[in-house]
Amino acid sequence: MSRYILALDQGTTSSRALLFDHEGAVVGLDQYEFSQSFPQPGWVEHDPEEIWQSQLRAARGVMAQVGAKASDLAAVGITNQRETAVVWERESGRPIYPAIVWQSRQSMAICDDLRERGLEEEVKRRTGLVVDAYFSGTKVRFILDAVDGAQQRAEAGELCFGTVDTWLLYNLTKGRVHATEYSNASRTLLYNIHERDWDDFMLSALNIPRAMLPEVRDSSGEFGIVASEWLGGEVSVTGIAGDQQAALFGQGCFESGRLKNTYGTGCFLLMNTGNEAATSESGLLTTIAWGIGGEVEYALEGSVFVAGAAVQWLRDGLGLIEDAAQSEELARSVPDTGGVYLVPAFTGLGAPYWDERARGAMVGLTRGTTREQIVRAGLESIAFSSRDVVDAMVNDAGLSLDCLRVDGGACQNDFLMQFQADILGLSVERPAVLEVTAMGAAALAGLGVGFWRDRADLEASKGPTTLFEPAMSAAKRDSLYRGWQRAVERSRDWAE
Ligand code: ADP
Repeated sequence: MSRYILALDQGTTSSRALLFDHEGAVVGLDQYEFSQSFPQPGWVEHDPEEIWQSQLRAARGVMAQVGAKASDLAAVGITNQRETAVVWERESGRPIYPAIVWQSRQSMAICDDLRERGLEEEVKRRTGLVVDAYFSGTKVRFILDAVDGAQQRAEAGELCFGTVDTWLLYNLTKGRVHATEYSNASRTLLYNIHERDWDDFMLSALNIPRAMLPEVRDSSGEFGIVASEWLGGEVSVTGIAGDQQAALFGQGCFESGRLKNTYGTGCFLLMNTGNEAATSESGLLTTIAWGIGGEVEYALEGSVFVAGAAVQWLRDGLGLIEDAAQSEELARSVPDTGGVYLVPAFTGLGAPYWDERARGAMVGLTRGTTREQIVRAGLESIAFSSRDVVDAMVNDAGLSLDCLRVDGGACQNDFLMQFQADILGLSVERPAVLEVTAMGAAALAGLGVGFWRDRADLEASKGPTTLFEPAMSAAKRDSLYRGWQRAVERSRDWAE
């Protein structure tokens, strides 16, 4: 009986590998950072070879650490930085250009062109996304334009496009498999999330040949066998999902109305909307959560640009705190902010405001305002901004919520989690194992081979959670949130 699932967690700054046992516990972890390249302002690129090598090294590293052999692995799961695009030669496996990272703005002009052609509504209707350089499609166009002869070679089927999962799978199987799955496909701007096929209209709008696209499979099921030389024996890849969808799965958000928030540099909120693809009125994205057994589930996705980054700013920009954890102690040392609000709209405001000219603001200051109150206002801003997105999701999906499941670096702040519960009027549930993204990949892979029988079996393997129950009166909640909305108004339409 195989003892572990190997999860490969290929992120934006590092490649990690984790081993999970049947109880869902992390028994080993290895991690390697890799280089970030910024060839021009706003451009971000990775070396695809380095992504693969660092990922392989982490996989071998964690196995050595635990003393696990390939025969101890029931399966391999992959989760990955989403939207990042790689194009390589089908025969040799050689990339023809660096990987263009999701953050990169280098295909902005291609997006402008799509907008000028009036395609925004079509894009949203077909892909669930908005026209933005963030998604893979325009990055692929950029690469085909940047490399001599690439368009013809792509049309002749000599080139492969893949998101990072596809690139890793191709390498793991030594070029035998060129495939992806629903959650990653739904981030490319090329995939019709309703018809569940590459979208001919989008392919022709961007002049991207179908011949270079991977086959799209279920997120849980057989993807291919890892060549024995990589891990010292054969083992199957049986689960793949993009990082945010993997986190949704790892959090056990299996039913519609289930919601998770990842508190990192920014916040990433995803809500399962079941078999219905909800259309957003407030600029949220509609995306595929995963496909299992031929059934697809959808999600609404929204993000807050500045969350943990506000805490970093309190530390590095203002020098008000020594480290992120100290924000909790200072926030607790005062009963409230004394009416101070900090709106960290440093780079504009996302959902539901979509105001790129908004800038950060601190309002309600008096002669008596203290450092502790400002720090507290910084933490509270994370909870208020998350509520903005949650309200938009509830409105768009017409679903009611039972709780908010949380993960990410800043969810370790108990003050913030309690305030989040209070300001939402909803319980907040924090898992004991915070590695939910990797767990999601492991879970998809484990279901694919019967390591876990079903979703109920997975739920049972989840350790104890910490619950934060709302304790604030509705009147106080409403009045605080109204104050936030007034503060947001003050920050809007500022940059000229
Ligand atoms: P990312 O994946 O975006 O790099 P992480 O999930 O590693 O982010 O979380 C790091 C972020 O969380 C940082 O912005 C940091 O300021 C914030 N953070 C970490 N610990 C705390 C804490 N105890 N209280 C508040 N914020 C925190």
